[in-house]
Amino acid sequence: MNKREFLKGLGLITAGGMVTSAINPLSAATSVSSLPAKKKIGLQLYSLGKELTDDVPAGLKKVAKIGYATAEAAGYRERKMYGYDIAEFKKVADALGLKVSGSHVNPPMRKYTNENKSEIADFWKVAVEDHAKLGVTTLVQPGMPQIENHEDAAMVCEVFNKAGEIAKSAGIKWGYHNHSHEFERIGEGSKRDVVYDLMLNGTDPELVFFEMDVYWTVMGQNDPLEYFKKYAGRFPVLHIKDRKVLGQSGMMNFKNIFTKAYENGLDEFFVELEGIGKADNMTQFEGVKACFDYLNKASFVK
Ligand code: MG
Repeated sequence: MNKREFLKGLGLITAGGMVTSAINPLSAATSVSSLPAKKKIGLQLYSLGKELTDDVPAGLKKVAKIGYATAEAAGYRERKMYGYDIAEFKKVADALGLKVSGSHVNPPMRKYTNENKSEIADFWKVAVEDHAKLGVTTLVQPGMPQIENHEDAAMVCEVFNKAGEIAKSAGIKWGYHNHSHEFERIGEGSKRDVVYDLMLNGTDPELVFFEMDVYWTVMGQNDPLEYFKKYAGRFPVLHIKDRKVLGQSGMMNFKNIFTKAYENGLDEFFVELEGIGKADNMTQFEGVKACFDYLNKASFVK
């Protein structure tokens, strides 16, 4: 966004040009500072499904128009983003003032072994190189690798640390996004451990962060607040999700979640919407707008 567009957004430019500040710079400055700062609300683009992928530039424009400031992509395939050359995709988003600050990417293999770990590292090197061009802050793996025992968990942590190291060398933070299976236990007898805890304890906080999906954590019968407390600083980014539109199910205490997340170092969050069907009588875009409105009005969201 250039200065002119910025001022236009604030209503300081009329058809006649930049009148207010030219006549009285002081009053213009005062009126700018008295406006509430725009909230930085992000969207995981997966939320829009086909409504986005049918026409990506038009879809991104709608996302920006709703008021979302940032977006997390979920369309990296064969070194392209939603079928577009990375630089071209970035140009489209930049022109809209929509910052694509994150991206979800899964390596092609689910089982990690000593034999394929260097192949996985090579995958991340390429992905990091491409995402550096996109200018993201975070690169996140949303899919759970196969973890059936403690040896699998240790191998996964080793691979995660390596991915984090590769990303860090390019100035990108590497993270892992959970669903509910991570809250299952593995191991025998006294050595029964929750997979998510094994991931948190087995990875280097300097290399791997956790993008907690608060809805899937609750669905895994766990309290996000307990994790924020136990592993303070490990959750700089969140997925803000509910059963459908945010705040409607009554099962998510977003006020407590945001309050505690900020205390524990929250930098950014992405809205995720799933589960909208025919009976809901709304498009994905309408659902995504309703989620934005909910957070934009909420006093607990900074
Ligand atoms: Mg999610």
